[in-house]
Amino acid sequence: MRIAIVGGGAAGLTAAITAARPGIHIDLYEKQKEPGKKILASGNGRCNVSNTSLDFTDYYGRHPAFVTHALKRFGYAELERFFLDLGVLLRPVADGRVYPLSNEAKTVFHALEAAVRRRGVNLLSDRGVASIERTGEGFVVASKGQKERYDRVLIAAGSPAAPQLGGGEGGLRLAEALGHETVPFYPTLVGLHLPGRLHERVAGVKLHARLTLYVDGRVEERVEGDLLFTRYGISGFAVLDISTSASRALLRTRNVTVGIHLLPEYDRQGVVALLQKLIGHAPQLSQLSMLHALMPRRLAEALLRFLKMEGEEPCSSLGPKELRRLASTIADWRFSIIDTHGFRHAETAGGGVATEQVEATTMESKIVPGLYFAGEVLDIVGRRGGYNLHFAFASGHMAAKAMLGR
Ligand SMILES: Cc1cc2nc3c(=O)[nH]c(=O)nc-3n(C[C@H](O)[C@H](O)[C@H](O)COP(=O)(O)OP(=O)(O)OC[C@H]3O[C@@H](n4cnc5c(N)ncnc54)[C@H](O)[C@@H]3O)c2cc1C
Repeated sequence: MRIAIVGGGAAGLTAAITAARPGIHIDLYEKQKEPGKKILASGNGRCNVSNTSLDFTDYYGRHPAFVTHALKRFGYAELERFFLDLGVLLRPVADGRVYPLSNEAKTVFHALEAAVRRRGVNLLSDRGVASIERTGEGFVVASKGQKERYDRVLIAAGSPAAPQLGGGEGGLRLAEALGHETVPFYPTLVGLHLPGRLHERVAGVKLHARLTLYVDGRVEERVEGDLLFTRYGISGFAVLDISTSASRALLRTRNVTVGIHLLPEYDRQGVVALLQKLIGHAPQLSQLSMLHALMPRRLAEALLRFLKMEGEEPCSSLGPKELRRLASTIADWRFSIIDTHGFRHAETAGGGVATEQVEATTMESKIVPGLYFAGEVLDIVGRRGGYNLHFAFASGHMAAKAMLGR
């Protein structure tokens, strides 16, 4: 049997390793000079390969339950075993995220690449696939002017996130040319753009905050974590966590807003009490100094500016109405979200090949027998925390087994 795999990322490499055996010829096409660029960049070079708690609710897409079978068949235990067989030890950390024990993405990549070579897979680097044609029982794959015939083809060409690491829409175009319905890609795990210039004044300020994402005025998601103000808007882990829902909503041109709670350990009444305590003990403080006791100075200045308050007046001059207004803004400072920071800065992308047209138990196309999909090219994207790599490994593994007919 002859198999073509399009894309040498987490999904394609896993599929190649799983399918490789005597009598099976595998060509693994990779458009870049080296495979696995995203694996090497992932988790800030540490590679958050998986999570000990995996569920379809950790994924987004038109039909996130599509992942259920893959997570059942190839869950964390199976992934741990797969990597152990390649000589990689994994270590879960407190919140369930899983990293290689070495703490280096290179360990994961080198193990995958070495296994691909050891098992006789024909790794064709710098060989982008331009087209896939159906011919009778099989396929003809064209790359750099050469045409080869195959019995099975797996498209594992990823998403347009991070084009500098090989991201692109190539996989989607190949799927469309073979008659598949696709969902437009949108950037996810990405910073968010705010209007106006207020955020520019606080660019570089980082804090622990609670973010509430509102879509058309309704609460969509609430998360707590790091928030970083930037020249374009906001970033940081908490922002990445709400970015998928925000990006999806923007795609549908919804009214998207974020409410930032600057002191999440206090409720609004608690913030009022905190301010009153300061005023009671240190009435001579300026309003700016009072706020600076609660947050970084540049943020305090921006808050006063936003509320059109002077800041030089003593805090004791604040009336109850002004105090409540200040506390309300500290507890729920609303900003419109006008855009994402784009595919170039996104870790992942939602959208892709419509999962209704793919068999969830085998990853085989329901409309083109013998054609398979795996990884981020599918309309599935996970939360931050190892969910995306896990799905790439799991779906690549399942597709390989199915291509071999078991
Ligand atoms: C900076 C960064 C950090 C990340 N950190 C994490 C993390 O810690 N944990 C986590 O779970 N996820 C993380 N992700 C996401 C994760 O890396 C991806 O979800 C995962 O790598 C997707 O695997 P894939 O095999 O589907 O696609 P990819 O890894 O994108 O692989 C697709 C491959 O196909 C190749 N290709 C595309 N078109 C063609 C073509 N026509 N012909 C031949 N080859 C083609 C591409 O060059 C690429 O090498 C991160 C992503 C980025 C960008």
